[in-house]
Amino acid sequence: MVINFEDYPCQFCGKPSKNFVFAAFVCDDETCIEKARVERGGPGGHMKRKAEGKPILPDDMLGESRK
Ligand SMILES: [Zn+2]
Repeated sequence: MVINFEDYPCQFCGKPSKNFVFAAFVCDDETCIEKARVERGGPGGHMKRKAEGKPILPDDMLGESRK
């Protein structure tokens, strides 16, 4: 799966995104990355989902985008 970041504006400031972190497209601004992290539920967000019996697929997508 190839993500064309130019097709996805940052979800927080609207600039072209550069990263896909915490299941959100964000630019290089640390503020936006932090917002994505908080919105996701923090560093333990995926573990919380797991505890609730929900799939943790977004983490797999995150791994893909880092290659
Ligand atoms: Zn941004």
